[in-house]
Amino acid sequence: GRTSNGLTKLGVNDFQLMKVLGKGAFGKVFMAKRKTDGKIYAMKVLLKDRVKQQRQVEHTQTERWVLAETDHPFITSLRFAFQSDQKLYLVMDYMVGGELFFHLQKEGRFSESKCKFYAAELVSALAYLHSEEGGHVVYRDLKPENILLDYEGHIQVTDFGLAKRNVKTPNGATTFVGSPEYVAPEVLGQGVCAYGYGYGKAVDWWSLGTLIYEMLHGLPPFYDRNKQTMFEQIQHAPLLFPEHFSASSQIMLRGLLTRDPAKRLGSGDEGSNDIRSCTFFTNIHWGQLEAREVEPPWKPKHSSTKREDDTSNFDTRGVSM
Ligand code: ATP
Ligand code: MG
Repeated sequence: GRTSNGLTKLGVNDFQLMKVLGKGAFGKVFMAKRKTDGKIYAMKVLLKDRVKQQRQVEHTQTERWVLAETDHPFITSLRFAFQSDQKLYLVMDYMVGGELFFHLQKEGRFSESKCKFYAAELVSALAYLHSEEGGHVVYRDLKPENILLDYEGHIQVTDFGLAKRNVKTPNGATTFVGSPEYVAPEVLGQGVCAYGYGYGKAVDWWSLGTLIYEMLHGLPPFYDRNKQTMFEQIQHAPLLFPEHFSASSQIMLRGLLTRDPAKRLGSGDEGSNDIRSCTFFTNIHWGQLEAREVEPPWKPKHSSTKREDDTSNFDTRGVSM
């Protein structure tokens, strides 16, 4: 049968759990095979108790909403959703290319052209989430662990566990969330930014700047092993660039990593268009990019040579069912 929102009604018994792909605060993500046709999916299992205890009910509802209701080439879609007494299940396509994090670790850093491709697909995904159609969603958790690559090597943004909907003002969000390396200064220095208390969509453009810097360099710009030192540096340290960063990358990164969210690149009246028109992206044809017509710099080897349930692009050491 079909539920009211069009998602086919299945249960956990319709899937065979094969291995753990990831582990989070509220549950696990499994590779799961659908019994009827052998198709491979990723199944995120959340423990209701833990979600409730930690007041994450709204976050979980938003996660489901984004996966189910948004429609964008670089945002993961929900295929099935169901629940038992204790658990919530979100079933998505299995992204055979693995985490961007895995590739970055393996290569140390990316060439500028490779970085440019991933950055452009991310600009497109974030701009969509921020839009009316995307639900005015602030993502708040942009980091290489949450960016997956699909079977063709295109970006798939996943993990909307920290996303917030209907953020229509520059200070529509207030809680401290995000991963330390990628968190924007206005989230750390609550109350001192131009908008007063709170923050908005601009935090995602800061995180994007951090991520682009990391793709080009191997480490984020204000990185320190000590979290307090890193927070201090995110708020106050000068932004320095390695010599190999091109002039166009430096100009764009200075824009994205502007501490005042009101002056940050992407916050102006033109929104993401100001990012798209940076010299850094000169040779990106945005129409073709969003039609998935730009060829990815790396394509997972699969189907013909490897099996559909290939996990060679995942670091699965130390994870057990
Ligand atoms: P939360 O932040 O809500 O606690 P989480 O970080 O545990 O969640 P996700 O980021 O959604 O959960 O998933 C954890 C990991 O599982 C990802 O980093 C990725 O390695 C893997 N994973 C998630 N979804 C998929 C998918 N569709 N295909 C392949 N692997 C996936
Ligand atoms: Mg995650």
